[in-house]
Amino acid sequence: MRLILLGPPGAGKGTQAKMLKEKFGIPQISTGDILRKAVSNDTELGKQAKAYMGDGQLVPDEIVIELIKEKIKEDDCAGGFILDGFPRTIVQAEKLSETLEEMRLDIDAVIDFEVDPQELIVRLTGRRSCSNCGAMFHDETRPPAKTGVCDHCGSKLYQRPDDNEETILKRLEVYENETAPLKEFYSKQGNLKTLEGRGSAEEIFSQVCDLIS
Ligand code: AMP
Repeated sequence: MRLILLGPPGAGKGTQAKMLKEKFGIPQISTGDILRKAVSNDTELGKQAKAYMGDGQLVPDEIVIELIKEKIKEDDCAGGFILDGFPRTIVQAEKLSETLEEMRLDIDAVIDFEVDPQELIVRLTGRRSCSNCGAMFHDETRPPAKTGVCDHCGSKLYQRPDDNEETILKRLEVYENETAPLKEFYSKQGNLKTLEGRGSAEEIFSQVCDLIS
């Protein structure tokens, strides 16, 4: 199964991608995670991406397209994959379609998570992630049992540097201008499925499973 998770920052794509990965045993490909790791390891890719990410801007298309092209050709993607945070522009979507066509593969579904912008700001400003396993928490709505510590692996939780109000507003603007047009792109292809990203992660996951079954 090959899925694309679409939606603004904070819509729950990462959480749902992790749940799908668990249930179906297919890898989650998060361009944001790959880029953050590159930045923290100070690799060439990280050096190129850092300033864009810090400003809430998109990393240039050619960089992320190359990254995804390599990734989806890896052996662990042979049984399918979940794209989380890619594509984010029409150019990225077109290049993805071209690459999949060359590989004689299709996307099974594009799941779009719709969430009110005010709710997104609350979610993102309170978000905390595990530095080790990537599990996500929220100061108010999903607090860990022990403050600052991951319930799953005991590692330290951190706040993403781009989860501050100024950068969040920029990211939401970029989403509206660059990424939201993908809804029409995939709707025309007939595989867009829209969900209200409201409710608990488990409730949304059950709707996701219904959609793709
Ligand atoms: P995310 O973790 O998906 O919110 O992504 C964090 C940041 O990584 C974004 O604000 C962008 O700067 C960059 N990024 C992630 N995915 C992409 C993409 N597909 N295209 C361009 N930039 C991306």
